[in-house]
Order: sequence, then C-alpha cells, then structure tokens
Amino acid sequence: MAYLTLRGINKIYPNGFHAVHDFNLEIEKGEFIVFVGSSGCGKSTTLRMIAGLENISKGDFLIDGVRANEKGPRERGVAMVFQSYALYPHMSVYDNLAFGLTLQGVDEDVIEQKVKKTAGILGLTDYLDRKPRALSGGQRQRVAVGRAIIRKVDIFLMDEPLSNLDAKQRVTMRSEITQIHRETGATTIYVTHDQTEAMTMADRIVVMKEGYIQQVGTPYDLYFNPVNMFVAGFIGEPPMNFIHSTLKGGKLDIKGNVVDLGAIADKDVLKKYEGKELVLGFRPEAIRLAGSEDLENAYKLSCAVELTELLGDNTNVYVDIHGIKTILKVEPHESPEIDTKLTFAIPYENVYLFDKQTEKRIRLKGFAK
Ligand code: ADP
Ligand code: MG
Repeated sequence: MAYLTLRGINKIYPNGFHAVHDFNLEIEKGEFIVFVGSSGCGKSTTLRMIAGLENISKGDFLIDGVRANEKGPRERGVAMVFQSYALYPHMSVYDNLAFGLTLQGVDEDVIEQKVKKTAGILGLTDYLDRKPRALSGGQRQRVAVGRAIIRKVDIFLMDEPLSNLDAKQRVTMRSEITQIHRETGATTIYVTHDQTEAMTMADRIVVMKEGYIQQVGTPYDLYFNPVNMFVAGFIGEPPMNFIHSTLKGGKLDIKGNVVDLGAIADKDVLKKYEGKELVLGFRPEAIRLAGSEDLENAYKLSCAVELTELLGDNTNVYVDIHGIKTILKVEPHESPEIDTKLTFAIPYENVYLFDKQTEKRIRLKGFAK
C-alpha cells in the first residue's frame, strides 16, 4: 500500500474558485515527488492541503492507509519550508535551528547535538552565532531547510524554496536538497514552476495545468513519453518545436518540405487523420546537422538561419522554415552562419505527433520510447 494517498482531491475556495480538480496520486515512502506547472495551476493549494494548512473540499487524503483529512499539521508529522524563509531575525542561527526543539522541551544537550549535526550537513557550522541579516540568501535558505529537517519528521514539504536565490545558488542548493533527502530518507513533496528543478531533483514529477494533473512520471518518462502537447512543451529547454500542418495523402507539406508519415505512423492513424490538422513535434536537441542530407530514416527540412546563441556547451540556432520559426540545438563547432540556408534532419525515432484538436500525443509504430 502507498504511504500517502490523494484520492479525488478537490479544492474549492470560499469565493467559489475551483483551484484543484480530482487530484489522484499515490506516493511511496521515501519518494521525492515534484509538483511542477505554471504559476496559478494549483501546486501550493495541493501542498497546503497535504500539510493540513488548507481544508480539503472533496476527496480523501490518507497517510499509511488512514484518513488524515481532519488531522492538524503536527499530527500529520509534516515539516514545511516556504519560499519566504520566515527566520526569526533577532535570533542567532543556532537559536533559529533550536527553536522548534526548545518549544518541545527537548534536553539542552540533545538540542546542541542536533543543531551541530544539522549545521554540519548544511555547511552552517561557522555561522551559528550570526543573525539572519548577516547571512547570504543561500545561507538563510539553508537555515530554513535546517529548521525543517532538525525535527524528525516523516513528510517534508517544500514550496518553491529556491526562488529567492540567484541562479548559481539555486544550482548548489538543488544538489544539497537532493543530498539531504538521501540522508534523511523523508518522503518529500517539492513544488516548483521550474522544469529544470523538477527534472534534476524528482523521483517522479507531477505536471499540473489549471488545477488538473496532466501527467505523472519519472523525469525520463516525461521527457521521452509526454502524453500531450502541454507536457511536451513544458519539459525540456529550449522547448519542443511544434509545426502545424494538414495531412494530405498521408503526407505533411511543411512549406515545400515533404514529410511522409507512412514511415512512422500506422495505416489506421493515417486514415483517421487524413484531411485533419496534425502537430509535428521535435526537440531542438533531437536533430542532426552534419551529414543531414544523406541521413536515412529521417525527415529533412530546409530553413534559413536567423540567429545563433553560443551558450558554451551548445549553440541555440533560431531558424525560419518559410515563416515557421523553430529552434535547433547544435554542438558549438557546428554553429552555422547567420543568413545562410541549411538542411537539418529529424531522425524518425525523434518525431512526435499530436492531434491538433485534443493536443494528445498520437502513438507511432515501432518507436515505443
Ligand atoms: P500555484 O502555487 O501553482 O502558483 P496556487 O495553488 O497558489 O497556484 O493557486 C491556484 C489558484 O487558486 C490560483 O488561480 C489562485 O489565484 C487561486 N487561489 C489561491 N488561494 C486562493 C484563495 N485563498 N481564495 C481564492 N482563490 C485562491
Ligand atoms: Mg505557489
């Protein structure tokens, strides 16, 4: 049986706004789950219902198979880290870390031992006497995380804990939080709008949009096996390219580039979509430039180079296929000249097809990823 069960969870706020619809999820003990989606999609609302800070309008929340809807945050054994660190400004780092334990009446000796251990894990040992204002953003956030992990809790909830940090600190804290999770083994639910955080930290990701779960899966699943255009476009950076085109005689005509779908789609699919609009998807990094003209089992598209961005480890190439804008990601040494024409190839196995109307992914033959 799953450790945490969310069954048909809904949230309707007192003003009548339906923020979360029929949320179903089972979480195993020790898992690191990330809720990801754009601002306003219901991530925090769902997390707060799990924390016991927000009541559940409809549905069941179970911990170890026991209904916990009516339990308070303490009874649920959760600790939560918020975006704002909420440290006590007049207290030292030591006292901030010790506060919760002091309230519980834990022995001074035990507190000291726990504070020192936690500070060690978080690299705060040299800062225990400082006040929060004398710390960097990253150090403050570590204290906030420390305050949560110093208590032995079973469920660790984090709501965009890194969004106030600069890019470099975020990368460091990302791996530190993953490391802490490994050490504590606490079941963790982490909320972010950042797909990179989701991809790098999660055991499983829950992608949300407008209050609905779109897909639940491992980072690998979501990247290679997105169920719809929203997930395909949300996961991956730069995002997947989408080209709209009408299927005629089993082929798409993309501004003079013929894409014969017979190579990748079953006959019944071709029949079903004949005369209808489809969306061809491919990731910027899933194309070939060198030798593209001769590459077999690949579609070839010719385009004009509009702009290149050298990022160091790769180059983003902004190209125009007679009015259709797409992005290609190539090796730095392959960077083309601006205003030149080029042909790129998309190997069949890297092609995605979507139903324009439902935005759902269409299964292709022989290329189950
Ligand atoms: P996220 O964390 O994904 O950005 P939230 O869970 O905070 O999204 O909010 C989801 C939706 O619910 C938003 O449209 C938000 O405006 C709305 N909402 C949040 N809190 C309340 C509230 N107390 N009353 C009414 N609507 C709310
Ligand atoms: Mg939020």
